[in-house]
Amino acid sequence: MSQPKKFVLLGATGSIGENTLRVLRKHPDKLELVGISARQQAGKLAEIAHEFSVPYVCLEQPPEPDVSFPEGSELLCGKEGIESLAALPEADIVVVAIVGAAGLLPTLSAVKEGKDVVLANKEALVVGGELVTQTANQNGARLIPADSEHNAVFQCLQGQPENSLDSIILTASGGPFRDMPIGSFKDITPEQALNHPNWSMGKKITIDSATMANKGLELIEARWLFDLPPEKLEVVIHPPSLVHAIVRFIDGCCLAQLSPPSMTFALQNALLHPERAPGVESSLDFSKALDLSFSPPCYDKFPCLRLGRDALAQGGTAPLVFNAANEIAVEAFLRNRIGFLQISDIIDHSLNTNSNKQTNSIDELLELDAEVRQQASARVEQSA
Ligand code: NAD
Ligand code: MG
Repeated sequence: MSQPKKFVLLGATGSIGENTLRVLRKHPDKLELVGISARQQAGKLAEIAHEFSVPYVCLEQPPEPDVSFPEGSELLCGKEGIESLAALPEADIVVVAIVGAAGLLPTLSAVKEGKDVVLANKEALVVGGELVTQTANQNGARLIPADSEHNAVFQCLQGQPENSLDSIILTASGGPFRDMPIGSFKDITPEQALNHPNWSMGKKITIDSATMANKGLELIEARWLFDLPPEKLEVVIHPPSLVHAIVRFIDGCCLAQLSPPSMTFALQNALLHPERAPGVESSLDFSKALDLSFSPPCYDKFPCLRLGRDALAQGGTAPLVFNAANEIAVEAFLRNRIGFLQISDIIDHSLNTNSNKQTNSIDELLELDAEVRQQASARVEQSA
């Protein structure tokens, strides 16, 4: 029998982290966890370390003395700690399940070492897509998508001849406000926006799904993962989240991937690729009626999706600006500092006030990211 694949899980305590651990529990003979990180939640990280006897752990800050990690395990800290975990010599795979642009540096660090990177974090490609994909190519690293739509595309493309891909259609549930009249959007509360109809996820992506900024981020993510121009990337509303993406080939035929709305399917596919093995959860039940309806998105109701599309079309640093402003706006909305409609206002303002640049320098990208966050925070203060 072959050796288990050794992997590092960055963002182990989050929603993607938990689903990855469910895949690991199902396949302990195929996977071995050698490193984990979390920002806070030292207690939860320690539990994971004990359950899977993980030799390397990393937290943003050193933990309180009452938190104990397995004997002999090595404790790393801070950004440097995460980056060295991402480059851990004994790891074959690095799962990036950190939320936000904070995923960029560890992703870069993993691709520089030629790792297979199972990428759940989409913001890294939105902020530094060209840099990450170029660095991956130069170092023989593979980016294996774990975002459900992108993993669906990845699956549909297996075994297809080169140059046969025409376009990609990402599905979107439309979130909790798909059918809400636009006049009521101004009163949406964080509690309502956190109540996603199909998926159970971290807070930031749940709000992104409610505004549909998530699908904007995913269009940009797809641009880098599959190297297609903006006009070849589409979004379609599919409320039940059973079809995750559709790939159209040059002959006009379309392939789609279907599974229930749980991240274990995409994560297992990415982690075990190219192998298939029994899944964590049951597959779709076709003995019951299934809704496979598709309809176009409403850009007037979801300006964040339109802004994401615009940023994709502009290219350069526009996606970075879109992302940084969105991260600040979502955080402010969750803290009740701004209303739901102001999220798109803040992104729009940031895109209008920052001139677009072409750069592949990590220092310039990080500098601009910090600058846009500062401007967007100031805008939050003005409008709060
Ligand atoms: P989450 O908030 O549940 O978990 C985030 C994890 O990252 C936690 O372990 C946290 O400790 C860590 N973290 C947070 N900020 C950090 C920082 N600044 N530095 C280092 N670590 C940090 O988030 P999630 O829902 O699991 O999403 C993770 C990523 O995966 C996001 O980019 C999201 O867009 C993407 N994604 C999530 C889902 C989902 O179902 N949750 C689906 C598709 C894609
Ligand atoms: Mg997705």
